[in-house]
Amino acid sequence: MLVIERDKVRGILDRHVEPAAVCKSGETVIFQTRDCYDDSVTSPERPLGDREDPMENPATGPLYVEGAQVGDVLKVEILNIVSRSWGVMRSSPVAGVFREDFDSRMARIFEFQDGKTVFDNRLTLDLDTMIGVIGTAPAGEGVTTDTPGEHGGNMDCRKIVKGSVLYLPVCVPGALLSIGDLHGLMGDGEVMICGLETGGEVTVRVTAVKGSGLPTPFLYCRGDVMTVQSARTLDEAGDMAAKAMKDFVKEAAGKDDFEAGMLMSLLSNMAVCQVVDPLKTVRVEFPLRVLEAYGYHLP
Ligand code: CA
Ligand code: CA
Repeated sequence: MLVIERDKVRGILDRHVEPAAVCKSGETVIFQTRDCYDDSVTSPERPLGDREDPMENPATGPLYVEGAQVGDVLKVEILNIVSRSWGVMRSSPVAGVFREDFDSRMARIFEFQDGKTVFDNRLTLDLDTMIGVIGTAPAGEGVTTDTPGEHGGNMDCRKIVKGSVLYLPVCVPGALLSIGDLHGLMGDGEVMICGLETGGEVTVRVTAVKGSGLPTPFLYCRGDVMTVQSARTLDEAGDMAAKAMKDFVKEAAGKDDFEAGMLMSLLSNMAVCQVVDPLKTVRVEFPLRVLEAYGYHLP
């Protein structure tokens, strides 16, 4: 199986970046990923890291998918995520909702065992490993891996997990998919500034899909479909995600604005993915079974 090793990392999703690997549409590929601190923070005594100049939010790739043409959608099936055996969290005095609480950076290391981690002697947490950064290359200027957008990127959406299917736009030939920034666990909002940051291996099947009509980035997870939109404010991102889902429901279920609007008001759930990146991200979830009742099936 094709493996993209964790030395093939970049801090930008950009059409000019040389592909790290080439695969065929429909092929399964493993991305080995570093954590968002470039694997440099390994001890609470050294919260700034062990190395000079670590990369920020490195993403592994990009992967060139043969047959993926501009205007297609890249279907990315998350077949498996295996994280390494530890995670790290770090406070920030310059970013995040609680930045004023901290004068300096603090770090803590968490060991993982059997899908759990010990927070302290009273509390053990179940892990639910997700992908923070996953995106294709945008058509115009490159976008750094700390920023989400129409191409995906740093969406920090906790629903991008094993078993999910993500649909991303193909804006350049080959799509140029990159993946990084795994979190062993993260709450909606990612309010302090980070998740339980970790590295690992992500196994995906990538397929170029033509004429899907999906409003990308679009996600399937655990019975729901989701639109994922990013903007300067949560208000804007929420409106964008809800409108994109309503238009999709209209088309997929063959409804007019009133009926699609009612279904959205009754059944869709709006949730905050993150509020700590350069743009904020909101998702709107809708039950796939409702669309299937009208004969719709995901590509
Ligand atoms: Ca992130
Ligand atoms: Ca992260």
